[in-house]
Amino acid sequence: MDATIKKKSRGTGFFCWKTCDILKKIDRKEKLPMKRPFISREKLKQITETYPTPFHLYDEAGIRQTARALHQAFSWNPGFKEYFAIKATPNPAILKILKEEGCGVDCASYVELLMAQKLGFTGQEIMFSSNNTPAEEMFFARQLGATINLDAYEDVAFLQSVATLPEVISCRYNPGGVFELGTDIMDHPEEAKFGMTKEQLIQAFIELKILGVKRFGIHALLASNTVSNDYYPELAKQLFQLAVEVVEKTGVTLDFVNLSGGVGVNYKPEDQPNDIAVIGEGVRRAYEDILVPAGLDQVKIYTELGRFMLASHGLLVTHVTHKKQTYRTYLGVDASAVNLLRPAMYGAYHHITNLDRPDGETEVVDIVGSLCENNDKFAKNREFPVSEIGDLLVIHDTGAHGYSMGYQYNAKLRSAEILLEESGQTRLIRRAEKPEDYFATLYGFDFEK
Ligand SMILES: *Cc1c(COP(=O)(O)O)cnc(C)c1O
Repeated sequence: MDATIKKKSRGTGFFCWKTCDILKKIDRKEKLPMKRPFISREKLKQITETYPTPFHLYDEAGIRQTARALHQAFSWNPGFKEYFAIKATPNPAILKILKEEGCGVDCASYVELLMAQKLGFTGQEIMFSSNNTPAEEMFFARQLGATINLDAYEDVAFLQSVATLPEVISCRYNPGGVFELGTDIMDHPEEAKFGMTKEQLIQAFIELKILGVKRFGIHALLASNTVSNDYYPELAKQLFQLAVEVVEKTGVTLDFVNLSGGVGVNYKPEDQPNDIAVIGEGVRRAYEDILVPAGLDQVKIYTELGRFMLASHGLLVTHVTHKKQTYRTYLGVDASAVNLLRPAMYGAYHHITNLDRPDGETEVVDIVGSLCENNDKFAKNREFPVSEIGDLLVIHDTGAHGYSMGYQYNAKLRSAEILLEESGQTRLIRRAEKPEDYFATLYGFDFEK
């Protein structure tokens, strides 16, 4: 769930709601806030001549840049490692790029583990942060030598019942209550199904130590999509204080603190993007203040970022296919919520650019897909350049939790994924589904080829 959208929406939404019926067309002097796509219109036009829309497009150069900036920001910590959350963008070409940049992967299911294995991630390069875990998945994670992050105190017994205990293990912490930054409530850990209480975590460490586990980690994810340089430093402070207490009470060897995911991107162009250098420095200060004086200056920092690594390096590319005028003005596009669920599921904002008419006269529109579901809207009451059928649009920041949250409602097929390589070449990294893919699980069940 996105912390940012739980706050009351400000600005244009209210304005449009109040005025859209009166003002169908708005002639504005000042430009709308904008986002610049990572590809030119001409280049994208060429790509759409080869690959029909909709498709997801990713930017290799941007992905590498972000990975390097992250590593730079945490270079003060010799053991630092990013375990990219596979669920954000489960595409082998993307995962290979991240592997080349020194990242591991964070998995939470059997198939994510299989994908990691097939791509050559081994042992310590795999974090297994799952919850409510099926026995065979836990067993497989142990077979791969993945670092297990236990979600529940009860999982101490569960893990022993399905596999041998590892040398290193992590436990996921849930402090309960609300998670605040300054006066903003960012999220409600007490409502989250994840993690264990402090007492449970201490008890788990004591038992696991007696059972022979040698080294320990602490993990927590307390807020999602934070657009704030303060989230990681505040989380780090809380986890480092917990770490000091836990080590005092249990005598375990603390190997790492895993700050998990939750660092967000500025989906709204008017928001200030996170600065990973500032974030890394904030975590360093907490480390120096809390862990170093306690003698815990060997502790490694891990992250499991998904969104921050990839979101801004992906675009969902689509064409305007219909225009309709009733009580509102609708722009129909050839993408739909099956390609990008976040707006329908969370009411999440994704910026949209009309590459054929980036500026000029605007009107207030709903931008919609073709599902028989009224939540299939990429934008509601949005001031947008007056568009025509055939216009090329890009939906921004779809590189994480975009394709991967897709589904097949209305028997819509999943789209292709394309990589814009550093060289400027483009390459198909997942083909679009065909009807035969949809039918494959039905053959032999009252349905024949
Ligand atoms: C989803 C998830 C992440 C990644 O979250 P982002 O918001 O994409 O950074 C990391 N760790 C765990 C355990 C997760 O469930």
